[in-house]
Amino acid sequence: MPTLSRQLVAQINLAALRHNLDRVRQCVQGAQIMAVVKANAYGHGLLRALPALGEAEGLALMELDAAITLRERHYTRRLLLLEGFFSQEELQEISQHRIAIVVHHRDQVAALEQSELKRSLEVFLKINTGMNRLGVEPDETAELCERLNASSAVAALRLMTHLGQAETKAGAEAPLAIFREACQGLPYPRSIANSAGVLRYGDVGGDIVRPGLMLYGVSPFPNQTAASLNLQPVMSLRSELIAVRDVPEGEYVGYSDIYKTTRPTRIGVIACGYADGYPMTVRNGTPVRVAGKLATIAGRVSMDMITVDITDIPEARVGSPVLLWGEDLPVEEVAHWAGVIPYQLLCGVTARVRFVTTEVGRVDFEL
Ligand SMILES: *Cc1c(COP(=O)(O)O)cnc(C)c1O
Repeated sequence: MPTLSRQLVAQINLAALRHNLDRVRQCVQGAQIMAVVKANAYGHGLLRALPALGEAEGLALMELDAAITLRERHYTRRLLLLEGFFSQEELQEISQHRIAIVVHHRDQVAALEQSELKRSLEVFLKINTGMNRLGVEPDETAELCERLNASSAVAALRLMTHLGQAETKAGAEAPLAIFREACQGLPYPRSIANSAGVLRYGDVGGDIVRPGLMLYGVSPFPNQTAASLNLQPVMSLRSELIAVRDVPEGEYVGYSDIYKTTRPTRIGVIACGYADGYPMTVRNGTPVRVAGKLATIAGRVSMDMITVDITDIPEARVGSPVLLWGEDLPVEEVAHWAGVIPYQLLCGVTARVRFVTTEVGRVDFEL
């Protein structure tokens, strides 16, 4: 028997990832899918996620080193760098590895015109349609397209924008109209939709869609659950109880006097803390599943441990399985209690956590 270490794992369910990719396919009716895998596939592990995302027509990310790793692992489909390039040296490497780029500023157009590349590039010209982050202005589009089209560095041109409000009540009608007008008469394929765009504007999301969050089984909409969108959570953060104690009424639990028992309380201690990526901004009452049942956080999250009220789960004992988020407890809910967005929790799981990959179903813990 190997020595058992701390039983905290991030379980990555590849069957769920495949299912969610199929959901994208159903929503977009024939558009090509570039699965967004920036930030190490939203914290799930790029190479871990790859077998399930192989069906997508390409992958989009920020990091050139990760894109090169993918090429070295013989990934042959389209790779797109979402923030483009930062220097002439990078441009050479990008061209050598057949990576597509976003061009979001006229200086980058000039840099491309001055470059001498052995192999010309697929370029996505990004247009600012109101998010005011990256992108050329709508009225620059025609001129820059003409220049890019004439440049020997450019093999193929695409038009792109990013929607900053597709998940809000206001929606993305206004930016979509700006984009349509900026692109009028330009005969290039278009890439528009992120997850919220795919789900809400499937028919106008463009020829090449760029979903991220929904692939990982998380709802982009504040008022709609992933389950109601038929998405399955991919990451389940699981641990165990490492201690159980009975605490009398009127005592504090954990650091800094933020939780005082109001009845005789059974407290369970979970091996997981903020050093593992669990948010310490959650409040008393945040849900956690212990032995499959809902318990609530009692006291401040510490670096390595979380204390929960398990008074109403009499069968819970040392070694009982704990689910921090995932399969039966949406990460959206924990993010809500923590005052952050689910993206941040998924990306924030730290190197201390062991990752395991499963194709289907659960890791079986013994009660
Ligand atoms: C992150 C990102 C996406 C994916 O967004 P989700 O909301 O995760 O679907 C798409 N396009 C660009 C440019 C991005 O940066």
